[in-house]
Amino acid sequence: MVFKISDNDQVYLNGQFIKIEDAKVSVLDRGFIFGDGVYELIPIYNKNPFCMNEHLDRLEANMSSIKIQSPLKRSEWSEIIIELINRNDYITSAIYLQVTRGVYKREHAFPNEIILPTVFAMSSPFTPPNQFVRKNGLKTIGISDERWLNCNIKSISLLGNILAKQQAVEAGVDEVLQFRNGFLTEGSSSNIWVVYFGKLMAPIKSNLILEGVRYELLIKLAKQSNIPFEACNLSEKDIINSNELILTSAMKEILPIVSYNGKTIGNGKPGPIFIKLREGYDALISKQFNI
Ligand code: PMP
Repeated sequence: MVFKISDNDQVYLNGQFIKIEDAKVSVLDRGFIFGDGVYELIPIYNKNPFCMNEHLDRLEANMSSIKIQSPLKRSEWSEIIIELINRNDYITSAIYLQVTRGVYKREHAFPNEIILPTVFAMSSPFTPPNQFVRKNGLKTIGISDERWLNCNIKSISLLGNILAKQQAVEAGVDEVLQFRNGFLTEGSSSNIWVVYFGKLMAPIKSNLILEGVRYELLIKLAKQSNIPFEACNLSEKDIINSNELILTSAMKEILPIVSYNGKTIGNGKPGPIFIKLREGYDALISKQFNI
């Protein structure tokens, strides 16, 4: 079966808004050949971007960390996002932004002349997690983190994350918890939080995890609810003994994890800290976007 794309979808490619089936890049694009690029995914509620500045801050930081000079000004990035929201029918969506180093003859080192980065952006429908998932939570397994050592870069080379996620699928669970040298790093596409006796904990920000836009946001929401927070090393034992496990990402928002390697976490139901943080997140969205 061939994947059929929606005929009406409009995307942005290198300065133009065009139909998705007309959007073509060269096979010599370094994104295609090497995975030499970075990306972002921004949730859109009621046709409004959520945390757009934080996502664009991260995109700019990521471009700079791989030495791609941003081809667009901050205001131009936001104009593309708004235009894509307006040109597509989705009310709740995800805007995907991708920048690659551009098109050049295949050579590992950066091109020794100035080339234009390739900029691609698209809008896809997004269904926020429903009440069933929020109430019943997610199942996880633990695996060894076999990715590279620059997980703080939101690289389009996602092979490590893809192989990790596939292990979850094959085990019949929703997400993996990855461990490196005995300590929790993150999910295949999410940050993971541990609650122990009322305290919220997460792995320390480092090159071993992607700092989600929801990382600082959750700390802020915790503060508002007087929930103490600590960034620390977390072992598999800490996971098994935790009272609650929580997952965050742009697309999963905030969800409870109720099992790990077949063992129930807490009482197997969303815990009080999750419920407080979830209420805080929902309140932010509904206040900003009248949902
Ligand atoms: N870690 C990884 C590996 C991810 O892919 C994601 C999703 N982008 C996250 C963490 C969470 O980041 P955010 O809250 O910005 O979606």
